[in-house]
Amino acid sequence: MKSISIIGSTGSIGTQTLDIVRANDDLKVVALSCGKNTKLLEEQIREFKPVVAAVSDENDAKDLRLRLADMDVKIMSGMDGLKAVATEESADIVVTAIVGMIGVEPTLAAIDAGKDIALANKETLVTAGHLVMKAAEEKGVKILPVDSEHSAIFQSLQGNRTFFDKSRFSDVNNKISRILLTASGGPFRGRSREELENVTVEQALKHPNWSMGPKITIDSASMVNKGLEVIEAHWLFDTDLDDIEVLIQPQSIIHSAVEYEDGAVIAQLGTPDMKLPIQYALYYPERRYLAGDRLDFTKISSIEIAKPDFDTFLGIPLAKKASRAGGTMPTVMNEANEHAVAAFLSGKIKFLEIYDMIEYAMSEHTVIKDAKLEDILAARDWTDELLSKKYKV
Ligand code: NDP
Repeated sequence: MKSISIIGSTGSIGTQTLDIVRANDDLKVVALSCGKNTKLLEEQIREFKPVVAAVSDENDAKDLRLRLADMDVKIMSGMDGLKAVATEESADIVVTAIVGMIGVEPTLAAIDAGKDIALANKETLVTAGHLVMKAAEEKGVKILPVDSEHSAIFQSLQGNRTFFDKSRFSDVNNKISRILLTASGGPFRGRSREELENVTVEQALKHPNWSMGPKITIDSASMVNKGLEVIEAHWLFDTDLDDIEVLIQPQSIIHSAVEYEDGAVIAQLGTPDMKLPIQYALYYPERRYLAGDRLDFTKISSIEIAKPDFDTFLGIPLAKKASRAGGTMPTVMNEANEHAVAAFLSGKIKFLEIYDMIEYAMSEHTVIKDAKLEDILAARDWTDELLSKKYKV
């Protein structure tokens, strides 16, 4: 029996994780959390009976305590609640399915408590990758990627093991020359800057292949998501930014690949279904049956691959620039994006202003190198204040 905590259980990744729990008798949920969706959280608590659950707001927590007075569950709120869910004693693994860099502190707390992490919350690695990877190494916990591309890379890296002699597999360390990180290109692939000028929220939310939460869907349209994923891959796989190549693969059949030094490319292919990477992270290194569509190669006439348009979609160049500057700069890039996406989703700015806000915040920031957690949190607050003043949103 494996016990899991989920921070962000009411979202796209969170609910799909619970689908996997429903399908497997040997998974048990011990802690859950959400932001505001207490209605769904209440249903989840009644179904999965965790020992602890958390919501953002204390008033919501009070209300939920009354509604769940017949249940034996501790309801908490705010950052203390998130940390309690992330560090719940009985949990073996924490699924970080929360959106945004609010995930940094609970993830670090979970690692400190010795929990393995099934990491969906990429913003945590983007802003605090150096702290997270170091803490994980010190505590000997696994950071298992849930992001489909990073799971694909992770799965492709399993070819880095000797097949015949299990006792030797940690000695095999074949050299990787490149990571090939694929992207669908999102709903606006092929458009010019002029054509992006007046795109609507509704158009940006129509992802061609994946059904995801609103923030990551907008990030996919701007390609900021792929920029964040480049930084995520850099930390997860200890790979230089120059050795991570982004390729547009509009059908989302190739989920990413690894090129070894002899030129062999090992990729993971499949239908676009997040349950596979979530389940792989939960059971790693085991594979389990997963219901769902299978790739039918007889129906695929070609696999399209293209280069990204870095002049129109600035997400990747901006993320690489931030990562190269290091220290607090990736936090500023990420937070400016979080701020801008929230403003875009509420109709306050235009789509292309997302890039303007990121560029502006980065140009105004003086990097703090060797950033500690408090520096990262201060850089986040500095970014919000700067953008609120300048853009009034
Ligand atoms: P969703 O928006 O669907 O869900 C986010 C979850 O976080 C919800 O449970 C939400 O609660 C909770 N939450 C949001 N804000 C707060 C807050 N301030 N305090 C506490 N909880 C909060 O996001 P996704 O599932 O799409 O994405 C989650 C993460 O996974 C992101 O980092 C994303 O980049 C990554 N990811 C997602 C993929 C996908 O397919 N969706 C694929 C790969 C990575 P509530 O419902 O109450 O708002």
